Amino acid sequence: MSNSRSFDADQIAVVLKKIEQAYLENIRSIESKYSSDLRMRDEKILSLNQENTALRNALAEVSSLLKLYKQQNGNKLSALKCENERLSFLVSCYENLLNGDKKTMFNGKMKAVTFSYDDCVTQDRRLVKLLNKYGLKCTFNVNSGLFRSASPIVVNGVTVPHVRFAKEEIKPLYEGHEVAVHTLTHPSLKNLSDEDIIREVEEDRIALSEIVGYDVVGMAYPGGTGNMNDHVAELIAKNTGVKYARTTTSTHNFEPQTELFRFDPTIHQHAEMDKMFELAKEFIEMKPDSPKLFYIWGHSYEIDALDDWDRLEEFFALISGHDDIFYGTNREVLL
Ligand SMILES: [Zn+2]
Repeated sequence: MSNSRSFDADQIAVVLKKIEQAYLENIRSIESKYSSDLRMRDEKILSLNQENTALRNALAEVSSLLKLYKQQNGNKLSALKCENERLSFLVSCYENLLNGDKKTMFNGKMKAVTFSYDDCVTQDRRLVKLLNKYGLKCTFNVNSGLFRSASPIVVNGVTVPHVRFAKEEIKPLYEGHEVAVHTLTHPSLKNLSDEDIIREVEEDRIALSEIVGYDVVGMAYPGGTGNMNDHVAELIAKNTGVKYARTTTSTHNFEPQTELFRFDPTIHQHAEMDKMFELAKEFIEMKPDSPKLFYIWGHSYEIDALDDWDRLEEFFALISGHDDIFYGTNREVLL
């Protein structure tokens, strides 16, 4: 630790008191922030409790060592220094943890940008190249029951190809980004039985986890807000391994949200291109003292339809490369 602090037994008692206070405050903050997501609340509290216990044990250990060294007339100064460094490190870790939910949400930065694209269609190849060129991170929402399916789609009167990738293309293509659930077959979830909703989501999640080699936890609702409702969101929260799910309702703001199973994006890239530039300028200039998130979603085939690739690259160039912005996948900025 560069800023190693020194502790004696009295100071440890003070630190303990502060930790207890901070611990209680943090529990309260977690309880209010995750009041509608009990699973996430319990996970956060469990991890806080573990850290708290570890730190208390370390403090007790160091405290008794300090007493022992004092009795031995300070003959073990180097050992004492070593214990102090260990303690200092633990305290810093705990402080970071305590601040985690309040201040340093995005790797120590107050602003984050994330992207989300649906359907895993062939135009994603060009999109991934462009995202990688500008160091931007995206979550791709994949239907594992529809690999290789192909049917043209009409967007703003223009017919464009809508061809989904083959299974083996998924992992290499989306390397460095996040793969997330878009259900097995892209149904309107609100019209399905509870059992089918859970199956469409969880089986897609398990299949995708096997394909990419990590635990898939994200989701975007197929067909967006109009094809889901609170019941669907609750079923997914309680019965699947999904930890957040995105709607298609634009907020046009950057405020944090607590409803992670009805997470609303800031903006839809295709339908609101001008507004997206306007928001980007506002976001770049902001110097917030609480976390702000700019969340953009879309379909890469829509970029073909309006021949918007140059405009999108212009946007990527504008929003990328800022030192005070964290660029992460959806799970990195939401969980
Ligand atoms: Zn879709």
